Amino acid sequence: MSKTERSILVEGLRNKGIKDENVLRAIAKVKREEFIPLMFRHQAYEDIALPIGYGQTISQPYTVAKMTEELQVKKGDKVLEIGTGSGYQAAILFEMGAKVYSIERRYEIYRNTQKLFDKLGIRVNTKCGDGTLGWAEHAPYDGIIVTAGSPDIPEALKNQLAIKGRLVIPVGGRITQTLKVVTKISEDEFEIKNIPEFAFVPLIGRDGWDGQ
Ligand code: SAH
Repeated sequence: MSKTERSILVEGLRNKGIKDENVLRAIAKVKREEFIPLMFRHQAYEDIALPIGYGQTISQPYTVAKMTEELQVKKGDKVLEIGTGSGYQAAILFEMGAKVYSIERRYEIYRNTQKLFDKLGIRVNTKCGDGTLGWAEHAPYDGIIVTAGSPDIPEALKNQLAIKGRLVIPVGGRITQTLKVVTKISEDEFEIKNIPEFAFVPLIGRDGWDGQ
């Protein structure tokens, strides 16, 4: 049942312009319903964001697909995710063969998702803390993906990127943002591509928005 639903979702993503076969394969494989609270599971394969509690959401499949495609993940790449949330995006990256590090600031979400990863056998290194500071211990990263909207690009994330590495981050207002794809050319040179228009929950932290 859900396999058919997943292949319909994948066809929909193809029609919306997602081309990377590795991304589409991962979306066809990972059971999105496992990352969604019971009461919304019947909508797991609709291309929409859904609530995961604590005022947070699991991103829309199209957004996950687009960000992952822009990240250009290759097997064995070291990828840092800011905003673990439900764990779905991290599961997609893990399925694609990346070595994934993921930071979540809300302890309850961090703990619940860590339990889910253990249950599903998804090996992602997680940490509870402020992701706007990055995770210096494991830097540099081939890719950094920020799954919450930021007022600016946090300096620490640019610093922790490998040369030729890419940072995908929604930047803008509290409600809507432009997706920025930042490629590190050299220690102090960055190339930026802008993709309008996305809507993420706010990135809250020292180099993000104020909040609790
Ligand atoms: N990638 C997630 C999307 C979750 S929504 C998924 O696939 O479901 C964004 C998440 O970012 C929320 O859980 C929120 O608590 C978290 N967040 C917000 N600011 C953060 C910060 N500074 N550091 C780490 N996580 C943060």
